[in-house]
Amino acid sequence: MGRVAVVGVAVAVAATACAVAAVVVGRRVRSRRKWRRVVGVLAELEEGCETTVGRLRQVVDAMAVEMHAGLASEGGSKLKMLLTFVDGLPNGCEKGTYYALDLGGTNFRVLRVQLGGQRSSILEKEVERIPIPQHLTSSTSENLFDFIASSLKEFVEREGGGSENSLNSRRELGFTFSFPVKQTSVSSGILIKWTKGFCIQDMVGRDVTECLEQAMTRKGLNMQVAALVNDTVGTLALGHYHDPDTVAAVIIGTGTNACYLERTDAIIKCQGLLTTSGGMVVNMEWGNFWSSHLPRTSYDIDLDADSPNPNDQGFEKMISGMYLGDIVRRVILRMSQEADIFGTVPSRLSMPFILSSYLIAAMLEDDSPELKEVARIFKDILEIPDVPLKVRKLVVKVCDVVIRRAARLAAAGIVGILKKIGRDGSGGITGGRSRSDVKMRRTVVAIEGGLYTSYTMFREYLHEALNEILGEDIAPYVILKDTQDGSGIGAALLAVAHSSNSVDSVQLL
Ligand code: ADP
Ligand code: MG
Repeated sequence: MGRVAVVGVAVAVAATACAVAAVVVGRRVRSRRKWRRVVGVLAELEEGCETTVGRLRQVVDAMAVEMHAGLASEGGSKLKMLLTFVDGLPNGCEKGTYYALDLGGTNFRVLRVQLGGQRSSILEKEVERIPIPQHLTSSTSENLFDFIASSLKEFVEREGGGSENSLNSRRELGFTFSFPVKQTSVSSGILIKWTKGFCIQDMVGRDVTECLEQAMTRKGLNMQVAALVNDTVGTLALGHYHDPDTVAAVIIGTGTNACYLERTDAIIKCQGLLTTSGGMVVNMEWGNFWSSHLPRTSYDIDLDADSPNPNDQGFEKMISGMYLGDIVRRVILRMSQEADIFGTVPSRLSMPFILSSYLIAAMLEDDSPELKEVARIFKDILEIPDVPLKVRKLVVKVCDVVIRRAARLAAAGIVGILKKIGRDGSGGITGGRSRSDVKMRRTVVAIEGGLYTSYTMFREYLHEALNEILGEDIAPYVILKDTQDGSGIGAALLAVAHSSNSVDSVQLL
């Protein structure tokens, strides 16, 4: 080969190398730029979800103020502050075998409890969990209640080997119905609206007890509802049965809600309300709480807009198990749209509610160095294989931000209730007194719902925030008690107190 030819080849090789290098560098620059955008999405999320103690205290104050407003007048606040007609809480003298039905958001439970007549003496309890078939949540009230009545009948028939006696004698039932109800008595009430994805239009405005009792009659079940309660009220009842210092109950499961014991003279919207105890349990329906202090992101706004109940249940949509997975999904979707981290946007990522809070918990709990569980969920659920480790790490961080915000806001809500009843050590809603002047009493809050009872990380974040808000002097006085199955057992306890042979002690002047 001549010299000129050799030089020519060398030049060509060099030029190719340069071109390749330029492509590689260009790709790297682009990929770095994309990565920066992804990290930017995370940073923005973190900022939007910030829950400093200062901000949480603002939420505490807003909760207490809204509670006041909701008690002052009907429609005075987004908090409905519903009367429950439950004026006394179980104290241990309850005795006998009672049934309860608990219709939550995901499961429905049938229970039988045998009460021994002393505090905390549940001699026997049997609980059966039955998943609610999805199609029934948007079917007709008749279909839903026929299903419930049939399941209850099977359960009752199994008692004592299905003896004649079990079906012939009329039984008293506690019915936990965890949706907003305007109570008309302790054993009846009208459904105000559905939440947690239920949508059975013919039920709204109807008496819930009547619907159940009609279905029980259709199924030949000789039972009557002695107490119709919200799950929070059931939980408070069981909490109080175990521990008389229990003053409030909170549910954090598919949805979220709270109730507490209020003085009747503080229920201004219902003047003249007289109870023998001087108090009444108020169902806050706190899922609908709203305040400008809540750290709301564009993902929350979009989730709300796409939901069947926009502008409703704002607090619940930031806190409860039903929504957390979908907030995370929306963040990952944004990351994928802004910087195509998965190539073209995977179709599964656009499916609402494809990520449950169980999956979020599983990803957050994945402590394998290669985040195998995260990879598995991406592959099996989202159909996105081969997600790079650094992306998996980022996703875990997203889950953490969303779960932590939820738990901390729930803690602020709890302190809000304590503030309203003067149990947060601050001297009540108007403040004034210094913390050292306030004599704290032992205060128990009963908590139920799978997100709290079965998910350790959520519980730890909630406790941490509670301690931060209350401070180390006050926090030891406030005890959160896991009250599993409280919503159902508590309804059975209230059924005893309000069974047909006991006189209803609530009077309206
Ligand atoms: P319901 O709301 O039907 O009464 P639960 O109180 O048991 O039922 O709450 C169930 C919901 O709580 C689930 O749908 C899920 O959103 C959430 N949840 C329960 N356990 C866990 C868990 N271990 N990790 C994450 N979320 C959970
Ligand atoms: Mg429940």
